[in-house]
Amino acid sequence: MSSTVLERFLRYVQIDTQSDPNSTLQPSTEKQKNLSRMLVTELFEMGVVDAHLDEYGYVYATLHANTDKLNVPVICFCSHVDTSPDCSGAGVKPIVHKAWDGTDIVLPDDPAQVIRRSEHPDLDAQIGNDIVTASGTTLLGADNKAGVSEIMDAVRYLLEHPEIKHGTIKILFTPDEEIGRGTNKVDLAKLGADFGYTIDGESLGSFEDETFSADAVKITIRGISAHPGFAKGKLENALKIAADVIAALPKDALSPETTEEKQGFIHPTNIEGIQEKVTLGFIIRDFTVAGLHEKEGYLKGILVQVLQQYPHSTADFEVIEQYRNMKEVLDNHPHVSEYVWEAIRRSGLTPLKRSIRGGTDGSRLSFMGLPCPNIFTGGHAFHSKLEWVSVQDMQKAVEVIVNLCQIWEEKH
Ligand SMILES: [Zn+2]
Repeated sequence: MSSTVLERFLRYVQIDTQSDPNSTLQPSTEKQKNLSRMLVTELFEMGVVDAHLDEYGYVYATLHANTDKLNVPVICFCSHVDTSPDCSGAGVKPIVHKAWDGTDIVLPDDPAQVIRRSEHPDLDAQIGNDIVTASGTTLLGADNKAGVSEIMDAVRYLLEHPEIKHGTIKILFTPDEEIGRGTNKVDLAKLGADFGYTIDGESLGSFEDETFSADAVKITIRGISAHPGFAKGKLENALKIAADVIAALPKDALSPETTEEKQGFIHPTNIEGIQEKVTLGFIIRDFTVAGLHEKEGYLKGILVQVLQQYPHSTADFEVIEQYRNMKEVLDNHPHVSEYVWEAIRRSGLTPLKRSIRGGTDGSRLSFMGLPCPNIFTGGHAFHSKLEWVSVQDMQKAVEVIVNLCQIWEEKH
């Protein structure tokens, strides 16, 4: 299978598309559109003439059906153009380590940055493959430009191979996924897809149809303030109440640092205030809504107990829904995941079903009406200077996308 995935990837990662959680704009940074505009131009050149970028930073495009069948569902492939604010994405210098021999990869612009097999067990399967890394001072941006490149190459391949029959395929490139706003301004009616796939996962052959369910909790504590010189018997310091609440959380359980796999957690994220009033922010995570509610009840119990020692202080406990496990939606459409399974197998790989300890654009899209599991890209160590991607795995991801288009046509 001929491939343009590497040349695309090398081109796209050199464009700085970092998103900014502190911006109130949409997209959060204007520079994300530099890549989006390039994608529109390239789609145009391939003959996808409805490709366009909207004011909010979304790219929409259609690959028209080439089958005579009229009832093939419309499938969408989706990736995000932004990179994480956690690590610089400016001036990325991608390096291709051809036919990698298994030795440590020292990144030249900062030799302290070393990618070792012992710390990246997924590298064991990569000996002899071509590995792309950054140069040591920035992230690489495989999250999610590997996915973008794979979708673009799959479109190119399908256009060059009209003998592969498929229904209508929609392409969606989103901004601001890394700051949790990737679907805020998406127009699903305009997109017009029945089912979707985000191409935003990791290891070769893996796909994910399950994410955390997520709430935030905001606790507002109102203490009793007094002049510290005359406070005896009067002052109830909201800062100390907040500290007591956090101190009452278990040290060996229920936190991100003590849980894995299917375990959820209660995680304080911010504390702000003065002796009179403090707000405490938490995120709550679990794979089930019942588990979320249980953890919220537990946290509320701690608050009530702590307040017993501060009889004149009060507190509000507010739960804010963030997103829900996409599995709740996908269970109603089992074929969406079954076809991925088959597409991965047809590419000669063993499918690995995983759960995401986080959310994706797909979690929100699923609940907005577009059931949307997540497929691997071949990228690893996201959001870090040690990020890497395998060229051969990217090519396999393209193959899986092409197979999926074909499978949807065959089955309907
Ligand atoms: Zn991503």
